[in-house]
Amino acid sequence: MVTRAQRERARAALEGLKGLYPEARSELDFIPEDPWRLLVSVVLSAQCSDAAVNRVTPALFRAFPDVHAFARVEPKHLEPHLKTLGLYRNKARNLVLAAQQVTTLHGAVVPREREALQRLAGVGTKSAAVIVANAYGTPVIAVDTHVGRVARRLGLTRHHDPDRVEATLTALIPRERLLEAHHTLIWHGRRVCDARTPRCHACGVEPACRKVGVPKRSLEALARAKATAEGPARR
Ligand code: SF4
Repeated sequence: MVTRAQRERARAALEGLKGLYPEARSELDFIPEDPWRLLVSVVLSAQCSDAAVNRVTPALFRAFPDVHAFARVEPKHLEPHLKTLGLYRNKARNLVLAAQQVTTLHGAVVPREREALQRLAGVGTKSAAVIVANAYGTPVIAVDTHVGRVARRLGLTRHHDPDRVEATLTALIPRERLLEAHHTLIWHGRRVCDARTPRCHACGVEPACRKVGVPKRSLEALARAKATAEGPARR
């Protein structure tokens, strides 16, 4: 059960993050009107940075503009476009398979249901959530490594399993703010709340954060910064 205190903590954290990143959005280049291209970008982003994906997709989509083009091609013809990305052979194979599934089973329309998406080659739980939230506006929160880590440190969840993190955040956060929470947690994780050394001393939501599991060096840097800031007032 979610307590009022937990809900209030989530609200404070969310407000703080929204203030820090009012423009937060997916850092993959895509247009919401084209769910297939979003699906391609999301599949390519596994274990790759969004920037790396954005570098290959313009030429990829010039050569293969839609789901039909992907469904017809042999994976080896996609591979040269994907060579700079990790696991590119798997990704090429999955994209062709997924395109064939979308054209034969779904009338060439990317499904709106997470369960149907998760049955497509290369599309896992998180990817399906990213696609339905960004392309179709479905109120879900996709949990990646940044979302899970930052939410745990903030004290919004104690879970590590992404499904349980999603369930907790979904219970805590109003439906209409789930996509915003997804983006702002990711942006904060990429810019400030680093996996190895979170920069708590430079963090705009530090007062609202429980700092669960934060490394000692970050807490020490925060204590030093606070002591320096308070110094002149004491003298
Ligand atoms: S205070 Fe530290 S642990 Fe908490 S959100 Fe900010 S950077 Fe992350």
